[in-house]
Amino acid sequence: MPELPEVEVVRRGLERWVAGRTIEDVEVLHPRAVRRHPAGGVDFAARLRGETVGVPQRRGKYLWLPLAGRDLSVLGHLGMSGQLLVQPADAPDEKHLRIRVRFDDAAGTELRFVDQRTFGGLSLHDNTPDGLPDVIAHIARDPLDPLFDEAAYHLALRAKRSTVKRALLDQSLISGVGNIYADEALWRARLHYERPTATLTRPRSAELLGHVRDVMNAALAVGGTSFDSLYVNVNGESGYFDRSLDAYGREDEPCRRCGTPMRRRPWMNRSSYFCPRCQRLPRVVS
Ligand SMILES: [Zn+2]
Repeated sequence: MPELPEVEVVRRGLERWVAGRTIEDVEVLHPRAVRRHPAGGVDFAARLRGETVGVPQRRGKYLWLPLAGRDLSVLGHLGMSGQLLVQPADAPDEKHLRIRVRFDDAAGTELRFVDQRTFGGLSLHDNTPDGLPDVIAHIARDPLDPLFDEAAYHLALRAKRSTVKRALLDQSLISGVGNIYADEALWRARLHYERPTATLTRPRSAELLGHVRDVMNAALAVGGTSFDSLYVNVNGESGYFDRSLDAYGREDEPCRRCGTPMRRRPWMNRSSYFCPRCQRLPRVVS
């Protein structure tokens, strides 16, 4: 599943390659890819015809294409294996091509939604007054958003009867932080993933948030990371960069700070990677 930096890389690619282009035709090749559009593929295609794509937007891991001059957006669900590719119109169809969007210009490229497992898809939504597709109105701003309310976040975090990793993945508090970047930021902050949020002082939670931003920005700088070989960015290039990970996927490898073998523990149907020496739970929780 792509994380925020990968989705931002895709968004930037779409901004470069499809913003401002007018849709000539949409071809839905698999009904599951438009199952979130209840009126179906024919309606989906008819409503997009003649519309112009605005500047692609992202919040957390959600990505959407606003339609210029309309209070409507096309929301992209990448799911586990979804890809948005900009391809030359004469390139052979991908085996798992689900939706094709042609444009009425001479640029020679088209937008393709390719998805092997068909958990993802595209759907059309009304916008909220803030310009968000209505179905994601409850998603909090992400830490790279200039309007992210940091003071409110620290207060909400301390008030929450939760543990720190759970809170990092709570999309109503902060969006876009997935398992990989949570483990990386917790390692950098020397915090155990089960640390109760109520025990975090304001400076500690501010430090943690700083690490979350740093790991995401580092990933963005190299084009995002991904652990799903099916995932590639909008130009079809993989953004794999596991060499720079300090915690995630490093079970039994030495901690890059203290040399202690890293551990992996099952956590909410996933895994948590941590250093048992640098990231201890406080003995007394007060
Ligand atoms: Zn360590």
